[in-house]
Amino acid sequence: MIGFGLTDEQQALQELSLQFARDVMRPAATHHDQTGEYPWEIIKQAHELGLMNTHVPEKWGGLGLGCIEGALISEELAWGCTGIGTALEANGLALQPVLEGASDALLEKYVAPMSEEPRMAAYAVTEPGAGSDVAGLRTTAVRKGDKWILNGSKMWITNGGVADWYFVLAYTDPAKKYKGMTAFIVEREWAGVEVGKKEKNLGQRASDTRAITFTDVEVPHENIVGREGAGWMLAMGAFDHTRPLVAAAGVGLARAAYEHAAEYAMQRKTMGVPIAKHQAVSFMIADMAKDIEAARMLVWKAAWLKDSGQRNTKMASMAKAFAADSAHRIASDAVQVFGGYGYSQEYPVEKLLRDSKIFQIYEGTSQIQRLIIARELFSGR
Ligand SMILES: Cc1cc2nc3c(=O)[nH]c(=O)nc-3n(C[C@H](O)[C@H](O)[C@H](O)COP(=O)(O)OP(=O)(O)OC[C@H]3O[C@@H](n4cnc5c(N)ncnc54)[C@H](O)[C@@H]3O)c2cc1C
Repeated sequence: MIGFGLTDEQQALQELSLQFARDVMRPAATHHDQTGEYPWEIIKQAHELGLMNTHVPEKWGGLGLGCIEGALISEELAWGCTGIGTALEANGLALQPVLEGASDALLEKYVAPMSEEPRMAAYAVTEPGAGSDVAGLRTTAVRKGDKWILNGSKMWITNGGVADWYFVLAYTDPAKKYKGMTAFIVEREWAGVEVGKKEKNLGQRASDTRAITFTDVEVPHENIVGREGAGWMLAMGAFDHTRPLVAAAGVGLARAAYEHAAEYAMQRKTMGVPIAKHQAVSFMIADMAKDIEAARMLVWKAAWLKDSGQRNTKMASMAKAFAADSAHRIASDAVQVFGGYGYSQEYPVEKLLRDSKIFQIYEGTSQIQRLIIARELFSGR
């Protein structure tokens, strides 16, 4: 049996998220885009409504919701504003490997407080010289008694300036390659942690992206996530849960762009008819609608596989690549439908085009998703 329907609870969650996106996020989107101000007030409200950290198990104060529910929320919030949405949801990527690998003591200390009040965490893996090539990391941690001495630099860390703690991937035994990587929880306030300036990005400007440098940071042994040598597995495994959510955000942005374009195409007239009557325009809009549906189906399947305990790595990458590439193309076509007005900040679609580009870059570029899909297709052959 195949069912595409949502349960009453899922529908209620979707409606709550849409209402929040419409009433709170959209009215604030331009302000945060233009100023780059971090949306703390919106985060507080989202936290109160239960729209953050939804996958944290009830034992640690969360709602214990699945990947499907996360995807539903993510699409709606992204429809509101993906800059604010990314700021709100980046916790998910930092939390996921910690939920999968950390000891109860770490979960109690670092995860449980996040359900009590709005606190942020960040996933710190990328470095100035290593993004797609995670094996190229230079950050190291060397054991000294019951502590590890951490040295290295991270780059492009979402929520880097506002997070209380970071999930940090470092080499503890470089000779073992992937199996020599270990993950640590590192607090922002610890001596030797230096947070860089907020990056001035093309889009999603509400989100806080920074470099972080670690100089002889003393990390207690108990702050290892999982065990020594399990860092790679935890850091990469997290994407099976988070890529469907990032893809869902791409769907939300694409939906917003499509709605603006369709509405404009019915109002704007050239040669005596609404431009929607010109086939060249209506086909662009038809393609938007088609690809939004297809992307959402990939997202739901990837999320459903995850929730039902099945391997979803290939499907998560398919969803991420398809939704990211579609979102960027749909936002660009929405600008095209608006003509000259689409190029102006007076209209909403230029922001969507700027915001859409990052979907093809963060959480693995669209090229890396194809690499993963191909690897999964050919493995064992
Ligand atoms: C706004 C923003 C937020 C981010 N947030 C985070 C975060 O919170 N935490 C974090 O750890 N990282 C984060 N990142 C980093 C992001 O994941 C990386 O930028 C991304 O993985 C690409 O790495 P890179 O920038 O080093 O590019 P590179 O890896 O240098 O890639 C450059 C180009 O080469 C292509 N390429 C590279 N290798 C291959 C290959 N083998 N085959 C085919 N093509 C290839 C890429 O697709 C890309 O087009 C963020 C980045 C940005 C811009």
